Amino acid sequence: METKLAQLKSLLIEASNLEAAARLLAWDRNTYMPPGGGPARGRQIATLRQLAHEKWTDPQVGRLLDDLGPYAESQPYESDEAGLVRVARRLYDRLCHVPSWFMADFYGHTSVTYEAWSQARPENDFGRVLPYLKKTLDLSRQYSGYFSDQEHVADPLIALQDYGMKATTVRDLFAQLRQELVPLVQTITAQPAADDACLRQGYPPREQLAFALEIVRQFGYDLERGRMDETPHPFTTYFSIGDVRITTRVQEHDLSEALFSTMHESGHAMYEQGICQDYEGTPLARGTSSGMHESQSRLWENIVGRSRRFWEGTYPRLQATFSQQLGDVSLDTFHRAVNRVSRSLIRTDADEVTYNLHVLLRFDLELDLLEGTLTLADLPEAWRARMEADLGIVPPDDRDGVLQDVHWYTDFIGGQFQGYTLGNIISGQIYAAALAAHPEIEDEMAQGAFGTLHGWLVENVYRHGRKFTADELITRVTGRPLSIEPYVRYLKTKYGALYEL
Ligand code: ZN
Repeated sequence: METKLAQLKSLLIEASNLEAAARLLAWDRNTYMPPGGGPARGRQIATLRQLAHEKWTDPQVGRLLDDLGPYAESQPYESDEAGLVRVARRLYDRLCHVPSWFMADFYGHTSVTYEAWSQARPENDFGRVLPYLKKTLDLSRQYSGYFSDQEHVADPLIALQDYGMKATTVRDLFAQLRQELVPLVQTITAQPAADDACLRQGYPPREQLAFALEIVRQFGYDLERGRMDETPHPFTTYFSIGDVRITTRVQEHDLSEALFSTMHESGHAMYEQGICQDYEGTPLARGTSSGMHESQSRLWENIVGRSRRFWEGTYPRLQATFSQQLGDVSLDTFHRAVNRVSRSLIRTDADEVTYNLHVLLRFDLELDLLEGTLTLADLPEAWRARMEADLGIVPPDDRDGVLQDVHWYTDFIGGQFQGYTLGNIISGQIYAAALAAHPEIEDEMAQGAFGTLHGWLVENVYRHGRKFTADELITRVTGRPLSIEPYVRYLKTKYGALYEL
């Protein structure tokens, strides 16, 4: 069995090498590649991904998984060997369920859809993308149909990002959250909005980037195994556990942009850097789901990075760095500015409290479309109605309504958005467990020290990689299944104090 396990690992590592090479080309495309490299680069990445797919679906992988199945099941569930075979089996089956011609057709379709969307959004012309979206919806249902064990048509699509989460469970969880958030947003926005003018002065970009990088280094992002570059749309990518890179963006007249984008990406990156070294190159060497990944970016960006205790320790240094701009701005004013809540149209610009309402809307509309209770022609109106009901504002046009996010125009309809809000909910629950284990975490944070929190996350979450599903990990780490309660308590405590509710 040991020989077979070694054979399986070496085949999977070859596939992983090809995937890493494709990601390096993609990282370069988004950072340093001259524009002329575009067309060839697209082909180069596609070839590497195709080769990786062929490696993964090699019948030899299937035979080894068949042979190793009984052995893996005889091992303890939490053993690395059982985990590797279990996760590899799941990914192999998923790839084999869907014919490769279907995925090739789908990628062809998404690239023309993206082109149409690129023109339709500036022109505010939903009609232009409508026929493409109809086909996307058909293909999304067709993809789902390749999986016979589904309870809901959205389940196989959700499983692509958040394996183990079911449409009906997530819908219930989100409905509970919506009941809490809608009145909370109403109460907060009935008060005058916080003044964030202090963030909108001129801040030299180089100094902003240096400050942000120093903060995330203190959080625990290891620069011997990472680096930071600039991009228009920040992301994190990894080539191995020893090379996990972040990107960020900076705006001279918005101090929050580089600061919080960098913290956000560092949370994703610390997760990948914290995975057990023994998993290198295997399917276990990844964060376990989109929701769990997002929980770590949000934990460092929002729960830590926008907290009063954190800025008690860090604000004097920020003031010293930008003494002209912030010398006369109090900690209270600054803290309120970085936690400003307002009703806004654009998801990616939304604050911590309203953000989830943008996500819940998209998730529910995806389910309605897949179930057939909403037609695509009625989608823009459904979007406006829900914005009005939940956020009290209506987009003046489709550009800032149904056309604003790229997701449905480059991927399936279904499974695209739940990870963002699952991440917020999970972040609250995991942080509460960390605090219960180490009540000194926040005093340390106020001294600019993060080692206890980071170490606890490595030990309890990061090092496991993909060995456990998000659900399993949450129960192991916090002693209970996923619940909105810790996250809602966090929001109410924090914003209750900020807005004296
Ligand atoms: Zn993220």
